[in-house]
Amino acid sequence: MSITSNLIFLGLLLLAVFLVLPIGIGVYVYRDAKRRGMNAVLWTVIAVVAPSLIGFIIYLFVRGNHSDMTCARCGERVTEEFVVCPKCGAKLRPACENCGFPQEADWMVCPRCAAPLSGRQDDIVPPVRHADKALWKILVLIIAVPVFLISAGLFSYSVHSTVSGVAGMMDISIEDYFEEQAPREEKEEVQAWLDGLKSESERAWALCYSHYGEMENEYFYLVYAPGTGNSANKGLGMSGGFFGKVLGVDLERTGDTGSLLCITASSKERPKLKIKVDGKKIPCEVTEVDFNPTGSLLTPGNVY
Ligand SMILES: [Zn+2]
Ligand SMILES: [Zn+2]
Repeated sequence: MSITSNLIFLGLLLLAVFLVLPIGIGVYVYRDAKRRGMNAVLWTVIAVVAPSLIGFIIYLFVRGNHSDMTCARCGERVTEEFVVCPKCGAKLRPACENCGFPQEADWMVCPRCAAPLSGRQDDIVPPVRHADKALWKILVLIIAVPVFLISAGLFSYSVHSTVSGVAGMMDISIEDYFEEQAPREEKEEVQAWLDGLKSESERAWALCYSHYGEMENEYFYLVYAPGTGNSANKGLGMSGGFFGKVLGVDLERTGDTGSLLCITASSKERPKLKIKVDGKKIPCEVTEVDFNPTGSLLTPGNVY
């Protein structure tokens, strides 16, 4: 995916999260609250405005005390406890014929007045309980959106970290570098940079040049890490993270202070240089320059 399509994709997702979800919740709460005889406008505002769905969650708890059943004959709001509809008198559930106490289908005796129950009442009009399909849709959306966002993020992250990250590295003695490889016009600039550095063993210094390409950029580093020249086992690797790419360089302490390290890496964004000597990270001071400090050793489009 290109950066533009990534942005459009992200924009649409954010639109879904910040627009569709609150609207969906608002419409649902308004209808549901109205049917239950609750203050629809107030609850809609609470559900939509309160952050992190807290208002919606509170609404779902509070609404349990408000019946969502209506009389099948006249549409009046009724509750589970009602034996008859207060408006049209429809029989909503079986009740004791003696005292009117609501009874369950398998009861033999009325628990209130001890009258025997016949268990058969034919003229019952059960109240209508409203199917709550919309709630499931909203819950699925609430769960699906973050899951989708995370997986999309992980996907684009993994794509990015595998597509780019070519790197190459070589050692050269300071002597050979200045005699043969150093950039002709900026040779003195590099020499002055090198002369200005203390030959301290627990530190590294680097010049970095960014060569911008159409698809990817190439980065050229000239590294001076005293005491690590001509390491027999040196490693170079690019790793991606949420905080950007890291160009990891593993060196050994050899005591050779007369060598320079030329490194190139291609990537979308400039990787952070992380130098380890014998497994221990040492600070590296990177200076950006507008010329390729590796001179003719490593050239753009011709990665080592
Ligand atoms: Zn009724
Ligand atoms: Zn009774």
